[in-house]
Amino acid sequence: MRLIRVGPEGHESPAVLDPVEGSALSARSVTADYDTEFFRNDGIDRLREAIDAGNLQPLQSNIPRLGPPIKRPGKIIGIGLNYRDHAAESNMPIPDEPVLFMKAPNTIIGPYDEVRIPPGSTKTDWEVELGVIIGRQASYLRTPMEALSYVAGYAVSNDLSEREYQLERDGQWDKGKSCDTFNPLGPWLVTSDEIPDPQTLNLWLNIDDVCEQAGHTSDMIFSVEHIVWFVSQFMVLEPGDLINTGTPSGVGLSKNPPRYLQPGQEMHLGIDGLGEQRTKTIDTPSLRRAVAPVRYI
Ligand code: ZN
Repeated sequence: MRLIRVGPEGHESPAVLDPVEGSALSARSVTADYDTEFFRNDGIDRLREAIDAGNLQPLQSNIPRLGPPIKRPGKIIGIGLNYRDHAAESNMPIPDEPVLFMKAPNTIIGPYDEVRIPPGSTKTDWEVELGVIIGRQASYLRTPMEALSYVAGYAVSNDLSEREYQLERDGQWDKGKSCDTFNPLGPWLVTSDEIPDPQTLNLWLNIDDVCEQAGHTSDMIFSVEHIVWFVSQFMVLEPGDLINTGTPSGVGLSKNPPRYLQPGQEMHLGIDGLGEQRTKTIDTPSLRRAVAPVRYI
């Protein structure tokens, strides 16, 4: 199944693409949203039963906006340097174990929304990634072999990164990963039954119709099942959480000379079987600019 959320930002409504007609069916009779409770309470199974029984009403044909296919997740985990060619182009060693970082959950936006270049940013960069959405609580999984049964589905994800904030400031990567609008997700969540092997997928990204990234998930250093198992050894993965599984080579940082996003550019990216997204970059409106710190005492 392909799960979508439609409607204005913050007021999206769950829907599913009809497997036969290709049109959209409302999922409101099954759930209020695709959130933690939906995944925790066997929502995907209930949705499938409702489709098979013909119980879902069609949506009006003109869909105003596609939101991200899941409600704001409890957490977003990033996996760094998970493709050999990307680690090499970054002049970083092949990691001995998955590199984890946190990305703020309120970065997720829809697959056609606008990406805001942060105020003063000169090094905003792109990263096409296979997004993994957790379906069942995963804690201390015994083996990687069982890990894929904890995955609800997959989606195209863009792990935007501000390289100055990420790499040239002190501390961890999170500052450069968590800027507003830095995680377009979708168009759909494709349920895991339709992607039996997530290591068989092409993924690509164009900037203004020029191909910048073209990779394959078989080139991951750590597979999806290894990542889910590994992360569960350090934190509880909850239903609806998102894991970005790393990006192949071709990011702006690695170009010679490096090239970064400017306002008015289009990112067009996709993954086999998971659809495509198109997002435009814009300057951050002045009302969102960071203000000087206020002193209260
Ligand atoms: Zn990434």
